[in-house]
Amino acid sequence: MVFKFKNVRIRLTLWYSGTLFMILLLYAGIAILMVYLNLRKNMDNQLEHDYEMVESLIEFDSDDSIRFDSDDGPFLNERWVEIWSDQGTLLLESRPFSGQSLPVFKSGQTITSLKFQSLVLNNKAHFREVTGKANIEGSWLIFRLLRSEDTMLKEINKFFILLLIALPLALIISAIGGYLLAGKLLSPIDKMALTAKKISSSSLQERLPVMNPDDELGHLSITLNELLERIQQSFEQLKQFTFDAAHELRTQLTTIRSIGEVALQEPKKNGDYRDVIGSMLEENNRLTHLVNSLLFLAHADSKVSKTNPEPTDITEIIHHTIEVIQPLAEEKGQIIQFDQKETITSLVDPTLLRQTLLNLLDNAIKYGPDLSTITVKAYITGEKSLCISVSDQGAGIPEEYREKIFERFFRLDKSRTRDSGGSGLGLAIVKWAVEIQGGSIHLEKTENRGNSFVIILPYNHAKTERDK
Ligand code: ADP
Repeated sequence: MVFKFKNVRIRLTLWYSGTLFMILLLYAGIAILMVYLNLRKNMDNQLEHDYEMVESLIEFDSDDSIRFDSDDGPFLNERWVEIWSDQGTLLLESRPFSGQSLPVFKSGQTITSLKFQSLVLNNKAHFREVTGKANIEGSWLIFRLLRSEDTMLKEINKFFILLLIALPLALIISAIGGYLLAGKLLSPIDKMALTAKKISSSSLQERLPVMNPDDELGHLSITLNELLERIQQSFEQLKQFTFDAAHELRTQLTTIRSIGEVALQEPKKNGDYRDVIGSMLEENNRLTHLVNSLLFLAHADSKVSKTNPEPTDITEIIHHTIEVIQPLAEEKGQIIQFDQKETITSLVDPTLLRQTLLNLLDNAIKYGPDLSTITVKAYITGEKSLCISVSDQGAGIPEEYREKIFERFFRLDKSRTRDSGGSGLGLAIVKWAVEIQGGSIHLEKTENRGNSFVIILPYNHAKTERDK
């Protein structure tokens, strides 16, 4: 069964402590090994020193038997020494330890240098042995010297016990430290969660706390705050849109109602009633136009709408749109000029392009003076851009409103534009229709008075059905 701690703080502490435990264990192992090797090296040095001493203590008697120099009795009393002949006969021994016996030295071994080894003798006593061969006064003698490893093993044991106590202690202290540290590091998350819980649609202006803008949690807070900022902006835009839409609808409905109420105040002749009904129908048309625009934008906002690009004859669409809107221009004695000779075909959404041109031409007619000229141009710029411009000779749009006029329900002169049927949604629709096709729209000043709305669309040359 695998335990899964839901608490990140505990998980972090366990991971941290587990890793630390492994590191400490490795460290302890290496430390014990180093201490052991060091102590053994010391012991080997001592044994080598002993060996040299013993070698110098050997004396030959007149009967060729060997003995130790009697002056160094105390030295020998503490050391286990055996001297063997080359043929394997024990010549001399000094043994301070009783009850231990060394394995018999086997003759015929080649001993070129000092040989060190550790031995465990019969009652589990640990010894370090050095074996060497030396020529003393013409005879080859084998020396075996031993020292007990008891002291060394006790030292190592002590060190081991010390580590055994220190290791869990260090682990406990570091686990507590790790737990506190994890708590401190994670505390901004708790604060963020607490603040986030309190944020609702009515308190979207609240922001998450940013403890340290330079660390990862700080970055997370900043990113979430930016997200909140965007949500707040969209929410406010939506609120404003709903408010403006309701306001527009109410105004139009009130107008229709007042026309009816005024008409009912006094009895009228038949012809007068026709006028009243005509006015009501005109208002109704505006209302329908407004509702259609609202539906169009709602559809656009829902992101379900897609463009349907197809090879389109741009010049033909412009000619056709001008034809449709021509009667409105004629009412004001305006001329719509479009002198394009060459055919431009590109991959665009014809419905959206038609809607865009209709809105722009409708504005040019509405806001252009009587008897003025509206100019439409279409041309290819560079290799990849298609440009369509609609210029009028109207009063123009002040510099500071050049961006704002594309916002929903924005109108420069509310009362005047309402009279002419404007609801402030036409340019918002144009902007959306252009941008969803990967294009852009901007305003340019014309040489005369007035504006030029310039649309730039990606140009993808394509053959229309007719060209094929
Ligand atoms: P509307 O339905 O009011 O025309 P639009 O979104 O089409 O809404 O335009 C927004 C505002 O921009 C208009 O109310 C008008 O004040 C201004 N505007 C748009 N086109 C022109 C233009 N060609 N000349 C002058 N002002 C314009």
